[in-house]
Amino acid sequence: MTTKVLTPDILIAGAGIAGAAIGAGLRNRGYSVVQVEASNQPLDTARGDHLGPRVVETLASWNLLDVFFAAGAEKRLGAKWVADGEVIFTSRMDDLPVPHPYYIVLNHNLIATAPLDVSLNDPNYDYTLLRPANAKNYETGDEAHGGVTALHVATADGQDFTIKPRMAIGCDGRTSRVRTACNFKIAKAYDYERPFAVLFGPRGELQDPRNEITSYMSRNGGVSRIPRIQGQWKIGLAIDKADIGHWKAADQAERQRLLAERAPELASMETEVAGFYPVIRREADHWVRGTTVLIGDACHTVHPARGQGMNFGLRSAARLFTFLPEPSEMANAELVSTRLAEYEAAVKPLADQQLDFNHERGLIMDCAGPERMDTEIPEMRAIAADPDAHYRYRMTMAGYADQLEAP
Ligand SMILES: Cc1cc2nc3c(=O)[nH]c(=O)nc-3n(C[C@H](O)[C@H](O)[C@H](O)COP(=O)(O)OP(=O)(O)OC[C@H]3O[C@@H](n4cnc5c(N)ncnc54)[C@H](O)[C@@H]3O)c2cc1C
Repeated sequence: MTTKVLTPDILIAGAGIAGAAIGAGLRNRGYSVVQVEASNQPLDTARGDHLGPRVVETLASWNLLDVFFAAGAEKRLGAKWVADGEVIFTSRMDDLPVPHPYYIVLNHNLIATAPLDVSLNDPNYDYTLLRPANAKNYETGDEAHGGVTALHVATADGQDFTIKPRMAIGCDGRTSRVRTACNFKIAKAYDYERPFAVLFGPRGELQDPRNEITSYMSRNGGVSRIPRIQGQWKIGLAIDKADIGHWKAADQAERQRLLAERAPELASMETEVAGFYPVIRREADHWVRGTTVLIGDACHTVHPARGQGMNFGLRSAARLFTFLPEPSEMANAELVSTRLAEYEAAVKPLADQQLDFNHERGLIMDCAGPERMDTEIPEMRAIAADPDAHYRYRMTMAGYADQLEAP
């Protein structure tokens, strides 16, 4: 069996949310790209499903927004918080002065497959997808300034490939092999106490044409009702680890009782369990090693209740694109590594601040006690009562006024 040697400008490891969007975002830019994805199964549909206005602007600039709408994406116009039956806070997007004043909502699996199909079907794109193929056998070395010099990989149909990229992007998620191969270290780690549970259910008579997230706050814990496409709800809540077994065994009536404890409004909702997610913080010490860069969960995980993991990865990718050398310059490893180092220096310190902030919020979400309400509700009421603070809050949620946007 002969080994096929590929020498693309860019190797993308992983074709999840970040990898698939980056692959499609790179088309029309003149780079040759090889992408390697380990799984041939769709991504877990219960994970993140909404992208904020700032990312929507990026998708539009990459000519991908229509692709998402064609795949079934719907607009979400905001979010609201309810305590004891009263709406205490709203965060609407549709009156913000931004190009796309809405989130888009699409099932997690489709957020990856829609751009992947674009890459695969573009006849003018020098693009190869190896799938399923487990990318783990990397070589690194001086010629890539410590980054990836080669990847040896076999596809399921028995073909062997050696990929010698001019630059590599590790989008292979929280257990990133690129991260290990390039000897990045985990600088910040935390295992949150409370896993995140996700349920699905039909919208039935409960409807919301604005597709808003409604977060119910109660002394028994919080729960979010999140519209999915095609007339479904997704319910997200942090639960005690010890209760996973109970939730798994619960029948419809018991799930209704458990939800109603937190939000009486959900008492009649019919649900099925979609998944339980241990929540971890893992942040790499660096994002760049020579001609290799990490993006997305490979370099930083985000608490799921922050709804930012995918958004963060795509916003980093948008910044990365502005630092890439021209296709004709990609053979110059010195230049590639200098540009990537500049990207890291410009973006990572700001992202670190945002990640620290997210972690603080994650710790609050980890808190099951009623004291959480005693802190959060007065904070929200104070923001709602101050027009400037409320506007800043909404612009931050839209992705236009947080640390990642700083110059
Ligand atoms: C319940 C839940 C809700 C969430 N809600 C939101 C939300 O509303 N908004 C939001 O922005 N984020 C949300 N997130 C976070 C979001 O899902 C993640 O941050 C995001 O999926 C990370 O994308 P990624 O591309 O970096 O990694 P992944 O999506 O994990 O993709 C990694 C890809 O790499 C592949 N891979 C791994 N190893 C290899 C290998 N060795 N070789 C080849 N391929 C490999 C995997 O198969 C996978 O396809 C949520 C997460 C959870 C758990």
